[in-house]
Amino acid sequence: MTTTRFAPSPTGHIHVGNLRTALMNYMIARKAGGTFILRIDDTDQERSKQEYIDQIQRDLEWLGLTWDRIEYQSKRLDRYAEAADKLREMGRFYEAFETPTELDLKRKKQLNMGKPPVYDRAALALSEDEKATLRDERGPGVWRFKLDHERIEWEDGILGHTSIDAASVSDPVLIRADGQVLYTIASVVDDTEMGVTNVVRGSDHVTNTATQIQIIRALGGVVPEFAHHSLLTGPQGEALSKRLGVLSIKDLRAQGVEPMALLSLMARLGSADPVELRTDIDALIEGFDISRFGAAPTKFDERDLFPLTAHYLQQQPLSAVADDIAALGVPDELAQRFWTVTRDNITTRHDLAGWWAMCREGATPVVAEEDREFVAQALEMLPPPPFTDDTWANWTAQVKEATGRKGKGLFMPLRLALTGQKSGPDMSDLMPLLQKMPQIG
Ligand code: GLU
Repeated sequence: MTTTRFAPSPTGHIHVGNLRTALMNYMIARKAGGTFILRIDDTDQERSKQEYIDQIQRDLEWLGLTWDRIEYQSKRLDRYAEAADKLREMGRFYEAFETPTELDLKRKKQLNMGKPPVYDRAALALSEDEKATLRDERGPGVWRFKLDHERIEWEDGILGHTSIDAASVSDPVLIRADGQVLYTIASVVDDTEMGVTNVVRGSDHVTNTATQIQIIRALGGVVPEFAHHSLLTGPQGEALSKRLGVLSIKDLRAQGVEPMALLSLMARLGSADPVELRTDIDALIEGFDISRFGAAPTKFDERDLFPLTAHYLQQQPLSAVADDIAALGVPDELAQRFWTVTRDNITTRHDLAGWWAMCREGATPVVAEEDREFVAQALEMLPPPPFTDDTWANWTAQVKEATGRKGKGLFMPLRLALTGQKSGPDMSDLMPLLQKMPQIG
């Protein structure tokens, strides 16, 4: 059965880049009627925080990306220790004692000689006595996985045929000197034991994949299908890494971005298919095909989220925003009208507050000098609120007759006086919502 997972490290908030990974894995599982696992990669106990775990769940729930199971790596440490023992028995695991400074020096020397900075496996030559001495002097070493120096190849769901020479990669450290199990092995053990069939992740993991394929094989697991999506850049192709902090799902939500706007963009961005607003996630799943995605960096511009958000809101019934509208204090009997009048004139649901303030308190009128007298005269003819559906038609007809103005010269100054804006809702519809007479100074 198709099984995928989204495996965030709870060391910060998830952002649009993570969302892309989550969404692709989610869609693969749902499309196949399979299982989607939320896996919390929390082996780094110092940097992992409960508040991030909670926020990740809130973010995914808000987006509607429901998971069938949640797993925590911190609860599976015994499984990883067992796998490590297995690798040790097989002679695929060795202890190394170089300090970070020594490793750095080695890398610099290699680079100076024009060689790739690959770990030289000096630790493999250590005798048991030498290791014991180093252990006494420096404490326990790190544990490295001994790669087989062969070409590691796989058919990548996005990159196509991919091949990496294992000799160009350092033997990965799987256990740190302080005993902390690292993601590289934990992930392999989990993917194998949880029956993960498809792994989609960012192309920054391509080298990891090569080493993980060897570890999976060493442990006797089945290699899943891998796909590596491109990384996001800013609109000009600039690195997004520094800005990802402000592109968290939580912040975008706070800015009023709608989940379906975000999902519609992220489900197609970087693919051969156009970005179109979908109002439910099933429609996105139906049209999703990972082979349509390209390997080139994908430009992301958060400004694209706002027209999609506006478009989404325009299609929503009152029930989608009823809570927000009630929270503003709009009386129930005006709620439907308020929504009908405003939904084409907002970008996000936060804009509703401005419209309600205008209805309740009156807008700051905008009156051109040459219209001052006309507007004053017209306002004298306006009966006080409550206004009705007919107020605008009756009033403007009377004003027209009294002043001889018509068309734009009649309507525009009145709209500006009542709303402070040149365009906006149909005035006949809006009038019954206005609770105060405009005051012009
Ligand atoms: N915790 C890893 C990350 O966030 C997971 C990578 C993977 O999907 O294997 O980068």
